[in-house]
Amino acid sequence: MRDVVIVGGGPVGMMLACVLAVRGLDVQVLEQRTEPSLRSRAIGIHPPLLNVLDEIGVGRDIVSRATHVQDGSVRCDGRDLGTMSFAELPTRYPFVATLPQYDTESLLRNRFEQVRPDGVCGGVTVTGVRERTDHLEVLTDTGDSIQARFVVGADGARSRVREAMRIGWTSLGRSGTYVMGDYADTGTLGDTAMLYFERGGVVESFPLPGEHRRWVAMTDYLATEATSSDLADIIRHRTGAEVGEARGEASAFGVQQHLAARMSSGRVALVGDAAHQISPIGGQGMNLGWLDAVALAPAIEQGLSSPQHAVAALSAYGRRRRRTAVIAAQQAGFNMNMGRPATGLRLSARNALVRTLAQPPANALVARAFTMRWL
Ligand SMILES: Cc1cc2nc3c(=O)[nH]c(=O)nc-3n(C[C@H](O)[C@H](O)[C@H](O)COP(=O)(O)OP(=O)(O)OC[C@H]3O[C@@H](n4cnc5c(N)ncnc54)[C@H](O)[C@@H]3O)c2cc1C
Repeated sequence: MRDVVIVGGGPVGMMLACVLAVRGLDVQVLEQRTEPSLRSRAIGIHPPLLNVLDEIGVGRDIVSRATHVQDGSVRCDGRDLGTMSFAELPTRYPFVATLPQYDTESLLRNRFEQVRPDGVCGGVTVTGVRERTDHLEVLTDTGDSIQARFVVGADGARSRVREAMRIGWTSLGRSGTYVMGDYADTGTLGDTAMLYFERGGVVESFPLPGEHRRWVAMTDYLATEATSSDLADIIRHRTGAEVGEARGEASAFGVQQHLAARMSSGRVALVGDAAHQISPIGGQGMNLGWLDAVALAPAIEQGLSSPQHAVAALSAYGRRRRRTAVIAAQQAGFNMNMGRPATGLRLSARNALVRTLAQPPANALVARAFTMRWL
């Protein structure tokens, strides 16, 4: 019997696995993929999480490979509306670290396998979870079942675990469409994160390691056919900025926000996108999931040492983290609204608001919100 089975070896499942394993728990991760995903989704890692990565022994690797973004700049029509600095944040790591999600996932997985060499079972799809009197049974497509004291669904937005526990999944109703692509960095923007609040819709740009930049532009439909050259045209047309050579193809994505009705059921808990799907605009989904993992670990430990309190510990975890997810979704919804196309009075009002938020003292608060200091 395992202490904990984690369903899903994405960034949040692997983070939780590391946090639990370094505390000495017997953890098994079940992951349906046999090969790592090469989609670079999350790139931003915020300061509170860099401290956690340190505690589990991967902080140094991540910090040394990542680009350190110490400030952000907001522009419209070629003019600066304001700046935001992370350098004054009261933390050991006063910057947002940027690294492609597949690199982060691979560092976490390597660390977990150092502590638990047989801890990840790849190529296994979980099909269900059954509750027994004092344990759980995890059912898989191979016909095997694995027994555990606790099960955690870290299996993403289409979570099978959430479905098996009959936990509802509600749309928060804020949506948008974007195209993103990585290009060689032309060097003109330094290591500054750029937000262009333009009439035709927002364009964002973040430095990445290896002298790349990630560019994201809002679109008015899901432009699945858009190429990296189409995205370069949108960027030039809206902002006047020139990008370098494309590194890979552009991709279109639609943003949806969803929230699980509960984040626990008995001795089963949800973390990450299985519990809350937050818009990537603002770059907080993975970080929010990591904060779930940090909050869940002590609740599981408490449940293992006093099983009669296990269900209460998990449900307290779920209530607290769900409240936080609601705040994060509202923040992401605000970010998406700010980036919508604007002209005339709406444009003037938005720019006035951005100017206020991007000047002292408000910009210190915005920097704290952006870097998840209160989530
Ligand atoms: C374009 C884009 C940009 C983003 N940028 C950022 C950013 O800058 N910062 C940020 O914090 N977040 C960002 N995000 C969000 C971030 O990518 C997600 O929040 C994050 O991937 C969630 O991690 P997860 O481990 O919860 O779920 P996932 O990454 O979805 O991982 C779930 C894992 O579970 C496995 N799995 C699923 N079902 C089963 C099953 N039945 N059995 C076994 N295994 C299963 C899957 O194969 C997968 O490996 C971005 C997202 C997008 C789309």
